[in-house]
Amino acid sequence: MEARDRGIYLPEAELWLDPSRVKPVAFVSHAHSDHFARHHRILCSPATGDVLKARYGQKTACDPVAFGQSIEHNGHSIELFPAGHALGSAQIRIERLSDGASLLYTGDFKRRPSLTCEPYEARTADTLIMETTFGLPKFRFPAIEDVRADVLRFCRETLDAGEVPMLLGYSFGKAQELLAILTGSGLEAMVHDSIRKLLPTFESHGFAFPPWQVFDPGGIDGKVLVFPPTAERKAALAEIKRPCRTAVATGWAIDPRARYRYRADAAFPLSDHADWPDLLRCAQEVQPSRILTTHGYAAPFAADLRRRGFNAWSLHGIDQMELSLGLDEPEA
Ligand SMILES: [Zn+2]
Repeated sequence: MEARDRGIYLPEAELWLDPSRVKPVAFVSHAHSDHFARHHRILCSPATGDVLKARYGQKTACDPVAFGQSIEHNGHSIELFPAGHALGSAQIRIERLSDGASLLYTGDFKRRPSLTCEPYEARTADTLIMETTFGLPKFRFPAIEDVRADVLRFCRETLDAGEVPMLLGYSFGKAQELLAILTGSGLEAMVHDSIRKLLPTFESHGFAFPPWQVFDPGGIDGKVLVFPPTAERKAALAEIKRPCRTAVATGWAIDPRARYRYRADAAFPLSDHADWPDLLRCAQEVQPSRILTTHGYAAPFAADLRRRGFNAWSLHGIDQMELSLGLDEPEA
C-alpha cells in the first residue's frame, strides 16, 4: 500500500480532510490511525468520536456531527453520512452556500453489508474525491455470505482436527467483524485485549456480539481465537504450545499468494473497502462533473473512468493539495 498523503485542504471553508499532521480544524472520516492526528478541533461522526476517545484518550477534541444532520461552517453547509467502512466511518458532503457548488469526499468506504457498522449511503455532488484502494478489474470480491461461510468452515475444520483456529484482523473494525461472524454458529470466541477494549463502544452504538472471553492460554479448548495480525499474535502462539491454524481476513486475499505474505494458513477476501465493481457504482451514483481518485490503484482507476466518459484524475503522488469547490483545476 502506498503511504497516506498529508491531507486535502479546502481554503474557502478552512477545512482539512483526513490530514495526518495536526491542524486547527479537520474532518476525520474514521478512527483508523492513518486518518487521525490530535487536531485542535475534529469534525467526525459521534461513533468515530467515541472510538477515538477509547483509543486515544477522553481529552480528544471531537466535535460530533450526527449522520443526517447539517451544520454550517465558514459559508458552507456540511453533512456527514455513512461510508460503510468501519463503525462510525463517514463520508462528507460540503456545499458552498453562495452558489450551491458541492464536493463529496468518501474517505475509506465499502458498499457491502457489514455486521459491525452503519450501511453505506450515496449522495450526488459536483466534485467527488474517492478512495480507490482496489481500483483494478481483478478485484471482485465473492458474495459476502460465501466468505462468512468459509470463515466458519475453517474454524470448524480446525477444531475437528484437534487444532486451535486463530482469526486475524486489525483491532478496530476487522476483528469485531470476524467476531460478529461467529454469532449464532455455536462457536465460542476468545479475543485479544486490544479487541475487547473497543467492544463496549460497538455495543453502545447498537451492534451485538456472540459470547466471548478474554484470551487465556489455559482455556483455549474448543475456542476460536480472534487476534490482531501484529506482535501479540506471535506472543500468543508461543504461549499456546498447541497446533494452531491462522487465517487472515483481507481484500488482498483475492491474490492466491496473500496467505504467504501474511504468514497465515488461510486468507479470506473479507474487506472493509469497495471492490472494483463497487467503485464504479459509486462514481455512477454520485454523478459528478469531476472525480479525483486517491489511495491504491488511483491512476489506473482514473484512466478507466476517463475511458467511460468521466472527467477523472488521480491524486497519486500529490502529497498535499488545496482544492476549490468550483471546477477549476486543482493546485498540487
Ligand atoms: Zn480505514
